[in-house]
Amino acid sequence: MNKAESRRIAGLLTAGGYEEGAGLDGADLVILNTCVVRQSAEDKITGTLGLLKGIKRERQDLRIAVTGCFTARDRKALHKRFPHVDLFFDAGAYDQLSEWLSTHPPRGAAAPKWPPHASAGDTPCALPIEADGSTGVSTYVPIIQGCNNFCSYCIVPYTRGREVSRPIGEIEEEVRGLVSRGTREVALLGQNVDSFGHDLPGQPDLADLLIRLQPIPGLLRIRFLTNQPKDMSRRLIKTMAELDKVCEHIDLALQSGNNDILREMNRGYTVEDYSRLVDEIRAAVPRLSLSTDIIVGFPGETE
Ligand code: SF4
Repeated sequence: MNKAESRRIAGLLTAGGYEEGAGLDGADLVILNTCVVRQSAEDKITGTLGLLKGIKRERQDLRIAVTGCFTARDRKALHKRFPHVDLFFDAGAYDQLSEWLSTHPPRGAAAPKWPPHASAGDTPCALPIEADGSTGVSTYVPIIQGCNNFCSYCIVPYTRGREVSRPIGEIEEEVRGLVSRGTREVALLGQNVDSFGHDLPGQPDLADLLIRLQPIPGLLRIRFLTNQPKDMSRRLIKTMAELDKVCEHIDLALQSGNNDILREMNRGYTVEDYSRLVDEIRAAVPRLSLSTDIIVGFPGETE
């Protein structure tokens, strides 16, 4: 998700007339897109902000903006702790970035001029801009942001908020644009892709989105991640088996092999439910490649 969002930020800046620098040296504007999923990730942010503080001491007109999950906390405290940061903006809130750049363009630069469609969309992950030219053969495409599940260990509902899906037509348009610039595989992203669409008019689901993307000429493969076992629908499994562009791969987080721990985690399924689901998927998609996540050392867990 962060890679996809960084690509969108780069696209927004390119559309506004900026050029990507080779590194920190000589940059007029640095945007740090952060992740706090583990302490090591957070340590990396504070380390980088320390480095930037030193650079800003030498070059006072350097502009520093920070976004991502690190900013989902008391802003006053953040500004106090990191006074050299000019802007903290919410993850995916490109409007906050574009507004700030309009009034605070970097040294020697004019305020960016975006074409009307390139300003931020009104949903957190929905920026209907063409990304910069740097699309790869495989490209991440966010389709839903946030999560309503509240697993007991997880920060996502607090940092990314509740689920907000992007309209299907907008995703299709983005994928067509990516394919025209060389992308052959898209990975549809969401903290919980199985919830996609329930907040949209007519309540389409992930299967509907796959059906819409399948006929796009030049698109060869479609992936999606991450799946929540309790939210994965039978219709999605059926659709996955039917559509040849959808890869035979599922990322299905298990998190624990013990029902007491799963209950503590508030995951909403049992080990038996998970096994049954995998059996069903394998029956429909015999050459399935299955990947998972497991948390070890959850509080209360014995060896
Ligand atoms: S489903 Fe995933 S993103 Fe949502 S709360 Fe649980 S672990 Fe976090």
